[in-house]
Amino acid sequence: MKFVPVSKYFLLLIVLVAPQFSSAQSKLDKPNIIVFLVDDMGWQDTSVPFWTQVTAFNKRYRTPNMERLAREGMKFTNAYAMPVCTPSRVSLLTGANAARTHVTHWTSPDKDKNTDYEDPILKPVDWNINGFSPVADIAHTFYGTPLPAILQKNGYYTVHSGKAHFGSTGTPGSDPKNVGFDVNIAGSSIGHPASYLGEKNYDNPVKGKPHRNAVPGLEAYHGTDVFLTDAITTEALKAIEKPVTEQKPFFLYLAHYAVHTPLNADKRFLDLYLKMGLDSSEAKYAALVEGMDKSLGDVLNFLDKNKIGDNTLILFMSDNGGLSTTPARGGQAWTHNLPLKAGKGSVYEGGIREPMLVRWPKVVKPASVADQYVIIEDFFPTILDIAGIKNHKLVQKVDGKSFLPILKNANVKDQSREILWHHPNRWIAAEGPNIHYASAFRKGDWKLIYDYRNAKLELYNLKADIGEQNDLAASKPEKVKELATLFSKKLKEMNAQWPVFKSSGEQVPLPDVVAAKL
Ligand code: CA
Repeated sequence: MKFVPVSKYFLLLIVLVAPQFSSAQSKLDKPNIIVFLVDDMGWQDTSVPFWTQVTAFNKRYRTPNMERLAREGMKFTNAYAMPVCTPSRVSLLTGANAARTHVTHWTSPDKDKNTDYEDPILKPVDWNINGFSPVADIAHTFYGTPLPAILQKNGYYTVHSGKAHFGSTGTPGSDPKNVGFDVNIAGSSIGHPASYLGEKNYDNPVKGKPHRNAVPGLEAYHGTDVFLTDAITTEALKAIEKPVTEQKPFFLYLAHYAVHTPLNADKRFLDLYLKMGLDSSEAKYAALVEGMDKSLGDVLNFLDKNKIGDNTLILFMSDNGGLSTTPARGGQAWTHNLPLKAGKGSVYEGGIREPMLVRWPKVVKPASVADQYVIIEDFFPTILDIAGIKNHKLVQKVDGKSFLPILKNANVKDQSREILWHHPNRWIAAEGPNIHYASAFRKGDWKLIYDYRNAKLELYNLKADIGEQNDLAASKPEKVKELATLFSKKLKEMNAQWPVFKSSGEQVPLPDVVAAKL
């Protein structure tokens, strides 16, 4: 019998009779934009390999929805944030680098409280301890025009769900509604939740009084067994039903409290990791990661169900590296960032390199990989670029650079780009590898690290030495001088704050001054 090639007619028939796969909402001229921000998630805390090889950590963690995002979108292998929370979040909101915003450290929920620890060698700098402000003349804040307000003005319905941590209580920046969000779910000045447990009302009372870090606004879930990660996802998706129905573009900032401490057990996922032989803290951490990934899956399913995936851009990012400095456990960390050096708080790669993924079906090629380095302040100009917003009025100077050209072509490279990290602060009481008073500068494959307390420069070639094990400063003084000159120029241009030695009362020398002596 002769084979009849019916298949193409069959396909044609499907095209003719099938319902439209895209909804009316997806015909909008502006895409929906979702920023899916994770807290304190390390570069290796996922089953998606971001390095050139699959590591033991990639095998430990289960993140099938991140795998889906990587399969359907673009993976950024050199994406950076600041070493701690608030500086990254303020840079994302404003496009300005921490050296410029002077929000160089994490802010306390309590107004006017400096979170810097006392350092034996350096005096603290006068940084913006109250964080970001959308209103001028608020003491100790960086005043700027926030991204959500610009999107809101340009027709976007804007939803905040989860952790804000933009500014301290009692300042305008503490309330996401003041920075341009139409809806705020569970966001405030707090930097981590008192508890992830619905059974505990997301609180952990102290002497009968609510904890300072009790999560606000989720009363409907109090007394239930709904984990915080799940509650803020469900509420976020409920909130964007409105713009979807009304055919309006939306901006969803789904900023998880996960995977920051406390390590509460997410019972939905814990057993698997205990059975793998992980200790209690490691298993709880892995379950927090999987709960976050489940949230990503819920978001993707929502887009599928409403047929708006094609017209929706998802940016997946973490705000700093995994917490590997854990004095409470005698230095035994539950997450490691390896092969990277150090973790949260450090300007070594472990503190700043992030798992970043982008899906945007109409533009981004599936399963593509971008090796160009990008940094969290780039989100601001990129999102405005994607939304087609031009000529908006800004108070602040933007340091970020749009990576839209990279989304269109993963091979776009700029090795001449200069980026920097500035952390003139002491993070915790304990010592650790460069978690206090350090800055760093990257150009091409080269990275310069400056430890202020010892006025010492280190030089690494990241292409050859991702683990920053081989300091080349002594053998390549000319390279150190070249980078230190560029670095110092940028610090001055940004009016970066610079600490003073307690002993002499003199300012710590700039990198170029130190390099000149080599
Ligand atoms: Ca963080």
